[in-house]
Amino acid sequence: MSTSFKHSLYVDRESCKGCTRCMKQCPTSAIRIVQGIAQVDPEKCIDCGQCMAVCPHQAITIKGEQFNTIFSYTRRVAIIPSVLIGQFDEEVTEQMMIDAIYDLGFTDVFYAEFGIDILRTLGNHISVYSDSLPVISSYCPAVVRLIQLSYPSLLSHVNLVKTPSQITSMYARSALENEGVLPEEIGIFYISGCAAKVAQVLNGPSARKELMSGTLNLDTLVNMMQPLLSKPSRSDKPFAISHPLPPITSSSFLYSVTGGESAGMSGRKMAIDEIHNVIEFLDLVEDERLSPVDFLELRACDTGCTGGILTVRNRFCATERIRYSGSKHPEELPPDVAKRITERGQDLLYHLKSERLTSKPALSLDENPIKALKKLEKAHAIEQILPGLDCGLCGYPSCRVLSEEIVQGNTSIRSCSVLKMNSPETLNRLEKIWGSLPRTIRDA
Ligand code: SF4
Ligand code: SF4
Repeated sequence: MSTSFKHSLYVDRESCKGCTRCMKQCPTSAIRIVQGIAQVDPEKCIDCGQCMAVCPHQAITIKGEQFNTIFSYTRRVAIIPSVLIGQFDEEVTEQMMIDAIYDLGFTDVFYAEFGIDILRTLGNHISVYSDSLPVISSYCPAVVRLIQLSYPSLLSHVNLVKTPSQITSMYARSALENEGVLPEEIGIFYISGCAAKVAQVLNGPSARKELMSGTLNLDTLVNMMQPLLSKPSRSDKPFAISHPLPPITSSSFLYSVTGGESAGMSGRKMAIDEIHNVIEFLDLVEDERLSPVDFLELRACDTGCTGGILTVRNRFCATERIRYSGSKHPEELPPDVAKRITERGQDLLYHLKSERLTSKPALSLDENPIKALKKLEKAHAIEQILPGLDCGLCGYPSCRVLSEEIVQGNTSIRSCSVLKMNSPETLNRLEKIWGSLPRTIRDA
């Protein structure tokens, strides 16, 4: 099956040893081992980055822009997440970090979370674009894609507001264009700490107003900044003076760490992090076994964005640093900044809502519910016969997934090496019951 969705992760065939670690970790069973190499099913992948985190051979990497791409533009805007400050020790102040980003060649810097202050200032309640309770945050793109793939009945719960970085990007572009900078001179780059946000930008809106030019991997940027932090900052930063980094509020600064978003919501709320926990929890929500809650903050990474695959520092230390730095930020925006947002941000009001989400039911066995149920029954029966070892020798993550693939006609029961070794008789008998299923690349 083909997909138009662009993913951020890819497997380097030369480095992959086919060890199955990624396949066993993947929460959506998107990975198969084919001829000794991991292969990702683009229809099932949610860009959560779990596979990359466990690969012992660094065979999975993320496509980011080459840094020099920023120099294709006259105005080079960096949208940085507050997670960036969490990557540094105490002796690196926020100002030193920002100076280093200017020194790398950016002309304008904004915190991504400034978008939350823009939203609040423009008077929008953040949960306004959801049809059902509990409202589910749309902040984590891996979670949103998971819901599209596995929980289509929950799509009406997802808050369809643009993410803070998207809002900040639109604001930055509109501010520069209002100053007379030509659209083609503006390059906006999001510094991403995770695979899902890289994919989000790759698949982002194409309307010029809403466009981001690309992403840079956060770990690469941190490495580039390190040597600059100990040197005096360049003095020729004309735009840093005419465009000072807008101060952001303390609550916005904490938005990306677990509990940060829900803290600002009224009513009963919960914050769940780590993708396997999120899946366990969404099962509850789907089965309506959840006590009444108004808002759900769901994050694919452990501790929230500080646990992103492109971060470099221990996630707990990073979270503590962000909380500490955040406590130094003001509780309210200074009046002049709020006034500027109100004046400049009126045209943003028409672009705050993201597109309606559609379901992508790649994880169900058939689009027709009756056929899906029949296939599921057949898969259950096959699974009972399989050894239940989930050894991965067949190239599938579990006996359950193998049984589903057999039902889909993608492989045969002969893929099971354990049955082949131990019970060739059983195998022959089973083939008589289930039929001789198609040969696959693995059987060849
Ligand atoms: S974890 Fe996956 S990508 Fe890495 S070597 Fe093992 S099979 Fe290959
Ligand atoms: S990014 Fe996540 S969903 Fe995609 S293959 Fe890796 S572990 Fe699976």
